[in-house]
Amino acid sequence: MVAYLVEVLKAGGVPDTDIATIDEEGERALIVRLPGREPGRPVLFSAHMDVVDARREEWERSPFELIEENGNFFGRGTSDNKAGVVALVSTILRFKAENLQPARDLVFAFVADEETGMDTTRLIAAHPWVKNAEFAVNTDAGGGILDETSGKPLIYLVQGAEKTFATFDVVVTNPGGHSSRPRSDNAIYQLAHALGKVEAYRFPVMATDLTRSYLGAVGKAQLGPLGEALRRFAADPTDADAADTLAKSPEFVGTTRTTCVATMLEGGHAENALPQTAKAAVNCRIFPGVAVEAVREALAAAIADPEVKVTVRGKPEASPVSEMRPDVMAAITRAVHADYPGVMVVPYLESGGTDGKVYRTAGIPTFASSGLFTKPSEMYAHGLNERVPVAAFYRGLEHIHRLAVELGQARR
Ligand SMILES: [Zn+2]
Repeated sequence: MVAYLVEVLKAGGVPDTDIATIDEEGERALIVRLPGREPGRPVLFSAHMDVVDARREEWERSPFELIEENGNFFGRGTSDNKAGVVALVSTILRFKAENLQPARDLVFAFVADEETGMDTTRLIAAHPWVKNAEFAVNTDAGGGILDETSGKPLIYLVQGAEKTFATFDVVVTNPGGHSSRPRSDNAIYQLAHALGKVEAYRFPVMATDLTRSYLGAVGKAQLGPLGEALRRFAADPTDADAADTLAKSPEFVGTTRTTCVATMLEGGHAENALPQTAKAAVNCRIFPGVAVEAVREALAAAIADPEVKVTVRGKPEASPVSEMRPDVMAAITRAVHADYPGVMVVPYLESGGTDGKVYRTAGIPTFASSGLFTKPSEMYAHGLNERVPVAAFYRGLEHIHRLAVELGQARR
């Protein structure tokens, strides 16, 4: 993939000196720069080349062939995130073909392992062309939402922060014994009681400027009690009734607090033996600014049983919030309005994850702004028969090009 992109970029006039590749244990990532007319901090654009796996026998068409059918491009990665890769490449080629030069360096990163380790993202963030970037535009999240039936644009979202993904193991051990001679203590019962406490526990309500403006904007378009709760919470995050209503909504609970939920369970080793171990995985999506260790302590305190051990899996990374910059929001709004006049442009907190968190942690404020507008039913990232509407794809290329021209103050 890197070799192919390098060939295409060179043929389009990008010199060797503006192309850098990164090697990382079998992964190859790519960085391309368009040098600025003047010195200044670069602006970074990022997309990832890798995709999640797909099984041919489960798909209706070959997942690793680009197939155009019924107004859609089908194929694994078409939406996540090959459309972004193409948008970066076509922007670079257009700058060359139209002799456009930015005022400061525009740097384009092609990540190799966003779906797995994000190790190449870390190397890219530390690269001399990138590390001084003033901010980044990530093509891998954000974007427009169309009304399911009318197809009218509803809202455009800009990702400015991500929750921290962390999994905790909740473990009870016991000497065990023969099941014909039950003891008063039992690892499975003890774990079940502990999980009951986790289920009942509510993390405190939290809000930032970013989440309040998001919930307020969504609330304007939402009818009924949920819309009212959204508007009230945006106006006053201490409104407990509004927060309670949002806590019952799977769509909005994650934007108002840290959430934890039991996702896996194992215990015991034989049907006629008392369990020696019982273990649950509790997956948490942690609000920005909250330490992983604080969440572990809160879970342990809620369980309130010193024999139940709560430990964190791996090394979860928390990333800071990227406060919205008026210049970036203005550029995104103008780019969106060129195709979809009047659509509300709103920052949001991501409950999932992208490599934007790596850039943010490295000190580069990152705003995810995909050029794709899709209906909720057209979101196929990671799913079967992934596709992207052809018209949305081509408009997405224009979106990234407009952002590069405006944020880079490009001219001939
Ligand atoms: Zn992605």
